[in-house]
Amino acid sequence: MNLRLRILRDGPRLAARVVSKGYLAALDFVYPPSCLLCAGEMPEGEHFVCGECRLVLRPPLTNECDRCGAPVGAYANLEKGCGQCRHEVFSFDGVIRLGTYDGALRKACLRAKSSSGAGLTRGLARALFREKEQAFHRQSIDAVIPVPEHWTRRAFHAHYAAETFSRELARQLQSPWAHRVLIKRHRTAKQATSPTPVRRRQQQGTFGVRTGSDLKGKTILLVDDILTTGSTASAATRTLKQAGAKQVVVAVIAVSPLRK
Ligand SMILES: [Zn+2]
Ligand SMILES: [Zn+2]
Repeated sequence: MNLRLRILRDGPRLAARVVSKGYLAALDFVYPPSCLLCAGEMPEGEHFVCGECRLVLRPPLTNECDRCGAPVGAYANLEKGCGQCRHEVFSFDGVIRLGTYDGALRKACLRAKSSSGAGLTRGLARALFREKEQAFHRQSIDAVIPVPEHWTRRAFHAHYAAETFSRELARQLQSPWAHRVLIKRHRTAKQATSPTPVRRRQQQGTFGVRTGSDLKGKTILLVDDILTTGSTASAATRTLKQAGAKQVVVAVIAVSPLRK
């Protein structure tokens, strides 16, 4: 029988066999694990964001202020915070972040927030854990809590960056993910346009702690995607501390480069 006839006769059967046996291998061939940022091929053992992209996401100044996460020069005096935060009143006890909200990391944050950004958000959480593993382990974190969104906003989103980010961080840290402890009582106006004092007023009474939550003496990792003025994280921290939390450390993907 000539080849053409054989393909006509056996084609469908052969195709079914290829699909059942070789499907997964074929997928690996067509889609080798790629970096979520640059789509480049990933070396073995890397996940989500490749080593090169992790370098790009790092701010040029490698030292940072533990109090607010701002990049600082090597000889900056950080005794009472850095030049940016020294006169700011924060309720939280420190900030752990991947970088600043500009350049490649700003683009990554915007993509992470989008409805298809869950994978990238988890990748950024892994990248943060890798970069700051020691800083995380210096705290003995009892629970990981995301800064919540009001349910009327949350309901319309496929994924919510702070929630996805916090869940993956909790997984990496092997700490409990307590995403229902902190609640947002009412909607606040979109903040980007409000000046700082207005933001502070808007934040009063925004958050609450679900009844029955036990926070006494606990160290909480409070997680958001971006830290702008710190007023949202401060308001959430006050609520957690009023409920008995001993220490609250904030973890974010990025801090805004200039806060005023
Ligand atoms: Zn990459
Ligand atoms: Zn600072």
